[in-house]
Amino acid sequence: MSTEPIKLDAARLARMVEVSRILNSTTDVDKLLTFIIKEAAVMTNTEAASILLLDPNTRQLFIKASSNDVPDELAATPVPLDSSIAGAILKSNQPLYIPDVSADPRWNQEVDEAIEFKTKQILGVPMRDADKSPIGVLEAINKLEGSFSRQDAATLAVLADLAGVAVEKARLFNELQQANKDLNELDQIKSDFISIASHELRTPLSVILGYISFLREEAGPEMANQLDSVLDAAIHLRNLIQDMLNFRYVATGASALNLDMLDLAKVIDEMNVDDDETAVAKQQTITINLPPFRLPVEADRDMMQVVMDNLISNAIKFTPQNGRIDISITRHGQECWLSVTDSGIGIPEDQLERIFRRFYQVEHALDRHYEGMGLGLSIARELVELHNGRIWAENLDGQGSRFTVALPLHRMVTGLLG
Ligand code: ADP
Repeated sequence: MSTEPIKLDAARLARMVEVSRILNSTTDVDKLLTFIIKEAAVMTNTEAASILLLDPNTRQLFIKASSNDVPDELAATPVPLDSSIAGAILKSNQPLYIPDVSADPRWNQEVDEAIEFKTKQILGVPMRDADKSPIGVLEAINKLEGSFSRQDAATLAVLADLAGVAVEKARLFNELQQANKDLNELDQIKSDFISIASHELRTPLSVILGYISFLREEAGPEMANQLDSVLDAAIHLRNLIQDMLNFRYVATGASALNLDMLDLAKVIDEMNVDDDETAVAKQQTITINLPPFRLPVEADRDMMQVVMDNLISNAIKFTPQNGRIDISITRHGQECWLSVTDSGIGIPEDQLERIFRRFYQVEHALDRHYEGMGLGLSIARELVELHNGRIWAENLDGQGSRFTVALPLHRMVTGLLG
């Protein structure tokens, strides 16, 4: 039988368009294969059809779908590439018609015996991926009336090509999904580890802090300096652990959101920023500018406190002795803006976005003057975005930096004030 290209008749062409649509709409490989063999048998008017696929890892050929019930052990036995009809089709990457299988030495009748079936003729075509490399074989078995026509061969070839691409696409999709799942699992393990480790570290540290504070009170002048250093180190550790603990908000995400009508001005007021020990020690001036009217937002109080705490403690940390820190709350259209401006070391223009990445710090790790883990801003951004808000940093031309959080105003306010 000639294998020269032949045009499909209108009815087969219309059916093929429908088949292509269905193949493109599923990523379940088993469903795809079952659908293809059913279509192959119907469109070529044959008793049965089957698909053998090349295992991409072992490069062995296996029966993957058949109109007949193939026992599991048979499906798990590889079909030899060198001495089988399917192997010949795959290796030559060409269609093959066997009018009488009993006369073909490559015919293996074990399958027929196992499934109590009698194969007479086989029309087989390679299934190819998008690069035209063979990934399997589609076989139509035993023409129900007459013999196989060139239309049958063309139909099967087109079907096999559509199927090959669909199978490859489905496999890639599934691999991608699996990779995504693995990544999410890894991310979860990391988040769990951070949560558990920080939680476990906090308790012994509280004991240490308590005793050192007590000893510091009791100590004479000769011990005071040493104990101050120990106390500083323990406070440093507590801040690091707090950053790690805050990670739990990111891990739980939206499910932990406890939304309330929240006045950020009130939260700032209650934070007693003026009394911050580090700011006092560095003799920094902190000014707070609050609006004369309330600007409530719909937000989770604890999460917002984490965000503000982070911005303010960063401002204090990265601003030298006698520097200034301004905190302000203003209305911008339908948003409430919280800005923390400092006269500190500033942030290079090309780092303004990167500082919001996890563990990113402008200073090189080996050359650090400032404590921290580079987690605070990434947590702040995730929390703000959880509230449908935005957070960004600006460089004030060598005069320090400004961080702004923009949150949508509570619906009641936008309704009232317009
Ligand atoms: P951490 O402060 O623990 O290092 P953050 O995520 O809070 O982590 O900040 C990331 C980095 O952004 C900091 O290490 C610092 O390089 C830079 N940064 C943050 N806030 C300021 C600021 N107010 N002024 C200058 N640099 C800042």
